[in-house]
Amino acid sequence: MKRELPIAALRSACEYKELFDLSRISTMRVGGLARYFFKPVSKEELCRLLDILDEVGYPYKLIGGASNTLFCDDVYEGAVISTRGLGSISREGSSFLCEAGVSLASLLSYAAGCGYGGAEQLWHIPGTLGGAVAGNAGAHGLEVFDVLEGVYIRRGLDGRCVELSPELLEPSYRTTKIKCGADITVLGATVGLDFSNAEDILRQKRKFAQMRAKTQPIGEPSLGSVFKRSDGVSAAFYIDKLGLKGYRVGGAAISDKHAGFIVAERGASPKDVLRLIAIIKEKVHDAFGIGLECEIDIVGGADVLFDRTEK
Ligand SMILES: Cc1cc2nc3c(=O)[nH]c(=O)nc-3n(C[C@H](O)[C@H](O)[C@H](O)COP(=O)(O)OP(=O)(O)OC[C@H]3O[C@@H](n4cnc5c(N)ncnc54)[C@H](O)[C@@H]3O)c2cc1C
Repeated sequence: MKRELPIAALRSACEYKELFDLSRISTMRVGGLARYFFKPVSKEELCRLLDILDEVGYPYKLIGGASNTLFCDDVYEGAVISTRGLGSISREGSSFLCEAGVSLASLLSYAAGCGYGGAEQLWHIPGTLGGAVAGNAGAHGLEVFDVLEGVYIRRGLDGRCVELSPELLEPSYRTTKIKCGADITVLGATVGLDFSNAEDILRQKRKFAQMRAKTQPIGEPSLGSVFKRSDGVSAAFYIDKLGLKGYRVGGAAISDKHAGFIVAERGASPKDVLRLIAIIKEKVHDAFGIGLECEIDIVGGADVLFDRTEK
């Protein structure tokens, strides 16, 4: 049964847009429409909104920088909620208290300004702290959970907001309880950094930026690495071995620079991306017997997947 949104109650809770084009916020610049799009400006506003949606059982999807999420349906029949309006950062000694919508770059840049660093590996990961916590983002041997001291969450179960010790979110390689479907919203987190020298921080930041620029299609619309490593071997290794760099479906192509990235050209649709993902999985499975698992979060797209299994 189609659930209706309690518009009157929501109007007082948070501003919203209808039929919002999600390609506008995706780092891949693809996506369908969201039936409703909300951008709360405080934790209180976000929680009030979630309380209302939970009460009526209306579906919603949290989004930070949308740098790891692919919305596949023409219309997502629910509410997409951006945390980008939750952007405050403060400091208590070496601990940085951030709201979920703060980008990793803003957090690390703020901390560097206070003379703290040690997590420069994470600087160039696009997206928000909330998204990084949900997926345990990481790079160059450091994961976000390595520097987390606490996480402030709202539990969907009872709507309560509590501070958690990070390990309770069960982080492992590019995943947590949240990414595995637990009904938890990250409202904010505390990140612990080391007292550092400004020049060292800058040098490290530059080093990691150069490493990325050498190996990744920076500046092209993408969602980063599409697949997780499999038994420690990158998906790019298998895809490259099959000579698939440059292989395309519609406007979606496997990057010539990094076989684990799919880049979108003008006019690409999320379904092109999804079809390409399905083809890559099939080819890698047929050739190596490896079942690649997606690192990106795919929302919807059942029609494409169903279409393939029917053939
Ligand atoms: C060029 C490029 C390079 C990248 N390099 C890396 C890299 O080196 N390492 C890496 O790990 N990733 C990398 N990524 C992927 C991506 O940037 C990270 O996964 C990032 O942490 C996602 O953050 P986000 O805010 O964009 O998340 P989104 O895409 O907005 O969301 C991701 C998931 O988290 C959930 N979520 C978001 N916010 C919250 C919240 N507040 N509470 C609960 N759930 C939430 C969403 O529902 C979704 O399931 C890269 C992406 C690009 C485009």
